[in-house]
Order: sequence, then structure tokens, then C-alpha cells
Amino acid sequence: GTAKSDVTWHLLFAPMPSASRRRTVAVVGAGAAGIVAARELLREGHAVTVFERSDRVGGTWAYDPRPDLAGAGAGGVHVSSSMYASLRTNLPRELMGFSGFDMAGRVFAGDARTFPGHREVLAFLAAFAEESGVSGHVRLRAEVVRVVEEVFDAVVVCNGHCTVPLVPKLRGIGNWKGKQMHSHNYRTPEPFQDQIVIVIGLGASGVDIAREVSKVAKEVHIASRYTEDRLGKVDMYQNVWLHSEVDCIQDDGQVRFSEGSVVAADTILYCTGYRYHFPFLDMEGLTVDDNRVGPLYKHVFPPKHAPNLSFVGLPVKTIIFQLFELESRWVARALSGRAKLPSSVAMAAAVEEDYQRMEAAGKPKRHTHSLMPDWVEYMDWLAAQVGEAPVEERRREMYEKALRCIWSMDDSYRDNWEKEEEQSPTRIETSSTNH
Ligand code: FAD
Repeated sequence: GTAKSDVTWHLLFAPMPSASRRRTVAVVGAGAAGIVAARELLREGHAVTVFERSDRVGGTWAYDPRPDLAGAGAGGVHVSSSMYASLRTNLPRELMGFSGFDMAGRVFAGDARTFPGHREVLAFLAAFAEESGVSGHVRLRAEVVRVVEEVFDAVVVCNGHCTVPLVPKLRGIGNWKGKQMHSHNYRTPEPFQDQIVIVIGLGASGVDIAREVSKVAKEVHIASRYTEDRLGKVDMYQNVWLHSEVDCIQDDGQVRFSEGSVVAADTILYCTGYRYHFPFLDMEGLTVDDNRVGPLYKHVFPPKHAPNLSFVGLPVKTIIFQLFELESRWVARALSGRAKLPSSVAMAAAVEEDYQRMEAAGKPKRHTHSLMPDWVEYMDWLAAQVGEAPVEERRREMYEKALRCIWSMDDSYRDNWEKEEEQSPTRIETSSTNH
């Protein structure tokens, strides 16, 4: 979404002491999370308005070839999507449908592949919004600039979290003379022709982008915390090396990795993820600290403002669209009173307990919303809140297989998936996908 909004909105909401279970609800954002949230809210009988600042539904799936130049001075256009031209999904389409609206078995933009490109997902989301009746409730080019209590009973925040780059400050970065780019602004590999490129981060984007850049670059050096057992040249590529984390940029401008190797490079490409950012929210006691949005009960409700303020889609490392749907259903029911929430004191205590458990397990604060390794537990817990069955075994295995494939750095999985599925359907093996 790049269009400049015609209207800006100050959303006003307040708990209505009405006996009616029908709430007026504002949803912020018409990406995948916002549109499925709207469907679930409508199904539960609420009156829904979705505010979307761009000129279309689908959020981050609307590829824009322009880089995001907001902040680059006057006239810079803001591009919120982080899609790159070649992007294909990293989950099979079977895992990207909504209940009653499958992505598998249908073709939306002519791309029937198991792992389709971004255009297909965008068309799927547009069709979903249309066929579910959500489209009629969406106000396009309407940016929410502030949420204040009063007019709506409730606000559901679905503004996405893959737009504002998270860039680690490297030691000695002042010595760096080359280029720097975040994956948010990566579109195509051509600018990296014949370069020596450092890719920082080995998540889904890091793997995809490193592989694509390696086709034109002279060398690609990937820095990651999760490479100890496979440092060195990557067998299946001519010009890709795995390193541990970047230790520093030396005085001479070369990049030094923790394992001791040193590389003189042209570009640093940060594939280091994104920051949660809610510029329109200024709620008492609600903060984003080291990428932890909190306090939030089960990643959704701030105890003080539940159920009237909620967040759909914060967690990562799970079957994303299914997560959106389960969280949305829970919110819809909490608003109608069909799902009971604990008291705000009890929710706050539960959040505190969760934080302590994380700390005891050595999980860094910035990974608060990463569901690994307990993603199934969380999904099943949500399902139980709304009277649904746990995540099907088959979907679970399929997701874990997809994670292993991403991590393997071998791109052939996307095209080989179907053949493999026919020969030996997915089995669970536990391996180090926990990053
Ligand atoms: P978004 O899609 O970002 O939508 C948020 C919407 O809110 C936008 O339309 C934005 O314009 C709007 N908005 C923001 N602020 C305001 C405001 N103040 N007022 C009004 N509107 C506002 N997931 C998968 O399941 N499979 C994949 O293969 C996959 N690949 C990915 C690849 C990349 C490169 C990225 C970045 C993400 C990928 N994801 C994938 C995750 C993806 O983020 C989710 O699938 C999902 O699309 C996110 O939906 P969302 O609605 O939370 O956010």
C-alpha cells in the first residue's frame, strides 16, 4: 500500500455498558489479519468498519517495485510492503487458506503452484474479502492516526508488523564505507551484480534473498547466530558462505565475524526482521520494549483494556493465516460475551508468569512473540477458547516440514513438494528449526 490517505481517522472507542452483545468495532488495517478479523466479527454479529490507509486490501502482499523512501526527505513515497519481486510463499497454499475459503484447489491469479508468487496471495485475499462480504465494510485510503476512547465500542489492531525495519547496530559501523540496505527495501538482485554482499540474518527472507543475490553477486556471506554447526562454504552454492554473527566492522572497514574470519564487502543487507510499531496508539501502560508488545494476555488483550482493545496477528513462527483466524474468533467472542476472559488482575498475573517462564527458559525478550518452540500449544489453546478442534496433525506436520525446508537453504523444495508428498507424505522429525 502506497497511496496517500484522503482521510485520516481518530478512532474513538469506549466500553459500552449495554446489554446488547452487538458491538461497534473498528479494525485498523485490511491486510490478511484485518480482513479475517472483520469476517469473524461480522459472523459474531458485530457492526464492523475496517480502516485501511492504502487503496486496496491485502496489506504486505501488494508488491510495489519502488523502495520505501519515507524518511529520505521531502517527496519520498512511503511503501509499506516488504515484498520482493521473485517472492514465492514459504508455506504451501494448503496452509494459507481460511476456514470455508481454501487457497488449495482454487486458482486466483493464474498461479496454481503449491508455493505461489505474491500476486496469487494478493488475489486470494481480495477474493476472500469480496466473497466473505468484508469488502463492503472496508474504508480505503483512511488512515487511523490516533485511537481515543469514545465512539466505537472496540478497536482491533491489525496494522501488520513487517514494515518498520529492525536494524541491529553493529560495533564499529562508523567505519563502514559501503552500502547498507534492509530486506524491507530489497526488490530484485540486479543492484548486487558482481558485489561482495554480507547478508545478516537467516530467517525466511534471509535465505531467499541470499540465494537470489548469489546468482549475480561475486560472493555472499551470511552472518547468523544459528550456524555454528555448518560454518564455511555452503556445498550447494559456488559463492555462498555461512558465518557466525558479525563481531564488528574493523577500523579498515572490513567485516569481522565472531568465528574470526574477515571479509571486505560492498554491501550489508540486513534481513533482521521488523519492529512492532503502533504510532496511533497511546494507551496507558501499553508499551513496546525490545520488541515486546506488552503487557498482552496471550499476545492479544492488554489486561487493562480488554476486551475493547485487542491485537490480531502479533505472533510469528506459526501457520500465520490460521493464527489470524483463531485470534479473531476469540476477540469476536470476547466482545459478544460468548468467550469469558479472566479478570484484568488475573490476566496481568498470567502475563507476568509467562514473562518469567520465558526468562527461565532463556528466551530473549525480543522473541516474546515468537511461538517457537510451543507454537502448537498456543494454537490449540486458542482453538479451545472458541470451541474448535486442535490443529490437525497433517497441518502441523506440513508446517514443520516447510520450516525444515526453509532452513535447509535448498530452494528446490518448493517445486519438489508435490512429488515428495505423493511418494512419502509428511512425517514429523524434530530438528533445529527453533530460530
Ligand atoms: P499487513 O499485510 O502488513 O497488513 C496491514 C495493513 O494495515 C496494511 O494494508 C496497512 O496499509 C494497514 N495499516 C497500517 N497502519 C494503518 C493505519 N494506521 N490506519 C489504517 N491502515 C493501516 N506469511 C505466510 O503465511 N506465508 C508466507 O509465505 C509469507 N511470506 C512473507 C514474505 C514477506 C517478505 C513478508 C514481509 C511476510 C510474509 N509472510 C508470510 C507474513 C505476512 O506478514 C503475513 O502473511 C500477513 O500477510 C500479514 O498480514 P497483516 O494483516 O498482519 O499485516
